[in-house]
Amino acid sequence: MASAPLQSQSTTAKGPASGDTPVVPPSATGTTTQAAMVKKTAPKSDYNPADVSPQRRVQRSYSVRLWSVRHSRLLEWVYGRFADTFLLLHPLWKAIGYGRVEAPVKFVEKRVKGLMFDCRMCGQCILSSTGMSCPMNCPKQLRNGPCGGVRANGNCEVEPDMPCVWVKAWEGSRTMVRGDAILNVQNPVDQSLRETSAWLRVTAQAAAAREQAKASSDMGAAA
Ligand code: SF4
Repeated sequence: MASAPLQSQSTTAKGPASGDTPVVPPSATGTTTQAAMVKKTAPKSDYNPADVSPQRRVQRSYSVRLWSVRHSRLLEWVYGRFADTFLLLHPLWKAIGYGRVEAPVKFVEKRVKGLMFDCRMCGQCILSSTGMSCPMNCPKQLRNGPCGGVRANGNCEVEPDMPCVWVKAWEGSRTMVRGDAILNVQNPVDQSLRETSAWLRVTAQAAAAREQAKASSDMGAAA
């Protein structure tokens, strides 16, 4: 896939380019952010849910997610072995039927990745390209780098207690063997794949690619 820089406005996962004038996020300059404006115009209410962020996540839930980013290199290795094993089992999945194994695999995938990465089951996992920091945890669900509202302390503009997932993604990617995959431009998320198994999709696609390559080489040998 072609490499390209992440979004270059304001604070980015790459940080300010050398030689460029550093761009300061709105929150650091005292400029009113979009989140502040939304909060200001929100209807007044006596009910303020305790200890709950706008997206109903409590701060302590970030700790496992952050652990995963800190151990991105180990998880990259584990994920690689896991993907190989799943691909090895392709004949079994095929014999049983991908449709039949989907429910149990999805059950496990949702819980394991939910615990480790706060996975939202987008069905198109790009953790290996984002330093093991799930981009779907970005309130704006950006898949190609941070917005211009990252706070001076590296936290999210919308959820001030939450470290920006793209700042963490950059940190995680720096320790990974294939960390530069973070520079790949990602397609927009396909919402029709929500709540489907990324594990099975990747396995089936890899198996199809492998079979196609084998068929091509057989044809080449026969010619
Ligand atoms: S990228 Fe998608 S599948 Fe991967 S952890 Fe995030 S929500 Fe889950």
